[in-house]
Amino acid sequence: MQQETTNIAKAQGLPLRLRAVLFDMDGVLYNSMPYHASAWHRAMAQFGYDLPEEEVYMHEGRTGTSTVNLVSRREHGVEVSDERVEEIYKVKSNFFNEFPPAEPMPGALSLLRQLKEQGLKILIVTGSGQRSLLDKLNVDYPDIFRRELMVTAFDVKRGKPDPEPYLMGLQKGELHPDECIVVENAPLGVRAAKAAGIFTIAVNTGPLPDEALLSEGADLLFPSMQALSDAWSELSGTLGK
Ligand code: CA
Repeated sequence: MQQETTNIAKAQGLPLRLRAVLFDMDGVLYNSMPYHASAWHRAMAQFGYDLPEEEVYMHEGRTGTSTVNLVSRREHGVEVSDERVEEIYKVKSNFFNEFPPAEPMPGALSLLRQLKEQGLKILIVTGSGQRSLLDKLNVDYPDIFRRELMVTAFDVKRGKPDPEPYLMGLQKGELHPDECIVVENAPLGVRAAKAAGIFTIAVNTGPLPDEALLSEGADLLFPSMQALSDAWSELSGTLGK
């Protein structure tokens, strides 16, 4: 209750002229992070690296290359070749695909429907290159997303926490930063969105403390997508006031 009251009060910082909402995918639209964490941990172990599952949540949003090299520099003091990264990422993807399909995040569809009803543009900005999930989007969220309004691992070079993916989202949506908001679950995703100058709502759907998201500059924080969906009507009622 305390959190909700605080959120509504803070919502005065919301864009005055909201035209679009940019969504991250893993941990926001899909409850896929536990699978990613396990797959990363096991793939890295197979190649002799120690990457605890909890740590995967701290790196969430990075490209595969960035994650592998970060761990390799730490453990062996060197970066690895692109071929090696590809090999590791392939093993990781195979482990990920052994899991049953990730479940849509509860509350996400109801939020998306409200936004669509309000005539807002809806974009996806993800570091993911998991084709299985990208293909599933239009099945689980029918008539919501358009391919030309999606930024994925196939579009970007640097990936989060660099603002590049969100800047590309603004470009694809023909948007100004103060016309949109971002919904993110990962600390580095929040950092990327804020670096792109966009109002950012964090949803803490994973095991990290709220502080991990707030310290990166999240403007609002909700404990789940359901909580954000439930609060949306009141939140958007404050728009432009
Ligand atoms: Ca995410």
